[in-house]
Amino acid sequence: MTEFKIDITLTENPKQKPDFAHLDFGKNFTDHMFIVDYTKGKGWHDARIVPYQPITLDPAAMVFHYGQTVFEGLKAYHTSEEEVLLFRPDMNMKRLNRSNDRLCIPHIDEELALNGIKKLIDLEREWVPTAEGTSLYVRPFIIATEPYLGVAPSKRYQFIVILSPVGAYYKEGINPVKIAVERQFVRATIGGTGNAKTAGNYAGSLKAQEVAEADGYSQVLWLDGRENKYIEEVGSMNIFFKINGEVVTPMLNGSILEGVTRDSILKLLAHWNIPVSERKLSMEELYEAYQQGLVEEAFGTGTAAVISPVGELFWENEKLVINGGKTGELSKKLYDTLTGIQLGTESDPFGWTV
Ligand code: PMP
Repeated sequence: MTEFKIDITLTENPKQKPDFAHLDFGKNFTDHMFIVDYTKGKGWHDARIVPYQPITLDPAAMVFHYGQTVFEGLKAYHTSEEEVLLFRPDMNMKRLNRSNDRLCIPHIDEELALNGIKKLIDLEREWVPTAEGTSLYVRPFIIATEPYLGVAPSKRYQFIVILSPVGAYYKEGINPVKIAVERQFVRATIGGTGNAKTAGNYAGSLKAQEVAEADGYSQVLWLDGRENKYIEEVGSMNIFFKINGEVVTPMLNGSILEGVTRDSILKLLAHWNIPVSERKLSMEELYEAYQQGLVEEAFGTGTAAVISPVGELFWENEKLVINGGKTGELSKKLYDTLTGIQLGTESDPFGWTV
């Protein structure tokens, strides 16, 4: 492990905390942030915690022009034992470095990054909300900071971690969502950047989301970018279907983001001896199974919602209503178990919490 030290400068003006009973996602930020600089030839250096503040960048900083940037998202939970738990943060650090690989950003020492996150959260303990379903969202990201208008990997970067207290995703219990199958736009294609967590993927997804919302759907179901045939992801979540007793999720093919929640669900299902397969699943195959009454449940998975049941899929001018538009038994059980492990109220057979 690389030796490193983290300098800490505390704020002299702590902020007034927001009303923890009414927290919007991603709108409030804590008092401090963690920063590490990278300079080519020197590596990552000057790890520090400083007061939360605007950052000053040259207008020519490469991140603004060519989007060389990656990010992560994970949550810290307040337990009833007055502890703060992170859920599988090592997985996020590994994915960050896989995204770095794809974007030609130098790897960051995963222990340095995780230690910075832990130190920052420790310092901001009072910002971790305690009410059921609430958490402290952790957003690590890396930006290319070299001022240069050339399409090439930057020689300078900053790794920054900011924290945001967030309210319960489900304020009135888990609610199934209506999803439109996307036919016009694609999110990613094999060989592209779909399996990296990089800003451009999200910028490119906004248009489809906007159209779907105008049509009364909360998100889109993305199909593959080559044949427009195989199911890939839902909004910014991975997708699972329960078809005739078997749980099916699209196999990782290079254009799907490898979700930490997805991996956790695959491990839980195997642990429960529920048949599960990671494979290609076309919309046609799903539709045929639907017509035979075999599609029992559908749900998206991701850090924000954990499980988001799908009650309706709109495809080729037809509304496919899944499980009567209600939350399925397995979706509920997975939600309860995973959130229980995250909060320390369920046993954690895999040692996932830190
Ligand atoms: N797919 C995309 C495109 C995402 O942005 C996310 C959220 N990180 C996910 C899937 C789910 O990943 P995770 O379970 O790690 O939150």
